[in-house]
Amino acid sequence: MKNKMKPESLMMSYGYKPALSEGAIKSPIFQTSTFVFKTAEEGKAFFEIAYGHRQKKIGEEIGLIYSRINNPDLEILENRLTLWDEAEDCAVFESGMSAITTVLLEFLKPGDLLLISSPVYGGTDHFVTKILPKFGIHVAAFKVGQKRDEVIDIVKATGMADKLAMVYIETPANPTNDLIDIKCSKEIAKHFSTSEKEVYLAVDNTYMGPLWQHPLKHGADFVLYSATKYIGGHSDVIAGACLGSKELIQRVKVLRTFLGNMAGPWTGWLLLRSLETLKARMDIQAFNAEKVADFLNRHQKVEKVYYLGNFTKRAGEQYDILQRQCLSNGAMISFDVVGGEKEAFQFLNALKLIKLAVSLGGTESLAEHPATMTHSDVEENHRKELSITEKMVRLSIGVENYNDIIWDIDQALNAIST
Ligand SMILES: *Cc1c(COP(=O)(O)O)cnc(C)c1O
Repeated sequence: MKNKMKPESLMMSYGYKPALSEGAIKSPIFQTSTFVFKTAEEGKAFFEIAYGHRQKKIGEEIGLIYSRINNPDLEILENRLTLWDEAEDCAVFESGMSAITTVLLEFLKPGDLLLISSPVYGGTDHFVTKILPKFGIHVAAFKVGQKRDEVIDIVKATGMADKLAMVYIETPANPTNDLIDIKCSKEIAKHFSTSEKEVYLAVDNTYMGPLWQHPLKHGADFVLYSATKYIGGHSDVIAGACLGSKELIQRVKVLRTFLGNMAGPWTGWLLLRSLETLKARMDIQAFNAEKVADFLNRHQKVEKVYYLGNFTKRAGEQYDILQRQCLSNGAMISFDVVGGEKEAFQFLNALKLIKLAVSLGGTESLAEHPATMTHSDVEENHRKELSITEKMVRLSIGVENYNDIIWDIDQALNAIST
């Protein structure tokens, strides 16, 4: 019966038995480093699974051992997160970056080639371009709008096509909201897969997930989250998650055990609390974003608005991808002010309600300047190519009353001296 219910109906109860915790309606914070085994045989069996020495038998559950391996707050959280993406399994981490880097390290080895979409999150970009090469892992990149055959040619041109091990994409791209076709990316991965070697597809779904886009349904093998953003949603915790098949997530969890980058019980508990209002928050954020985008589209001090809802049929392929893989236009909006850095800064400095800060997805609306903040590490020419210019401002829309958000944007735009 439970599985027929929508995830938002199950976020308060799924995977938690009050009877095991003195009847407490909420899961306690299991602030404990280790767990008592009933028998030595039980301890032996738990370790066999935790260290990947054998697969679980049907119906067998791994028991609690030690909080670097598992902890009730994390397990309940992982079970609840699987519901949104309809994933078999989930692994939660102490940050989005640790989820991303653990997956890359587990499925890539020296000599391998990684294909990434561009742009990707700054932290991911740094890890992939500066750290993976130290381990002899090669990287090729493709851009939004490049066709399947062009991307296949990029891989071939490296001379290492037989070493392609993973395709990694981020869509919508931050901060421009450009879309990458998940299904087509999987086709590219399949094109280079052989009977000996499957090329995996990983998708960073932080911008849209877990409500508005479900990459596993479009062929992805891994969906990755910075749970710091919408999942946490209150700008008070750093966390990450990775979802996929039982088999692949088991491998991710084994590496997580040895890197020791699992989330702690307190982080798990905070995210459980956040998940109860996830749908309600994200619905309001998307609703507000539509009102804000509509206002920006008509403002004379705004030159261009980057918002998924602005992709109409005329946008061609981008519109088709939006229809196919996104369930909402999201709550992230970027826009170019008329002018440059000076005008963008005047706008940012004049905001009264919206906070000037990086990050996104929280209850409060945020504004930032990608060219000098989140994307300042991107090489200048490349930044221009991606339309991340001095006049661009990025907004993360929160749950405030939309009239107040719009009032604030309007007064700040009017504060720009011309
Ligand atoms: C924030 C973010 C990350 C990194 O997550 P942390 O929780 O900060 O480690 C990765 N990808 C995207 C798209 C992000 O926005």
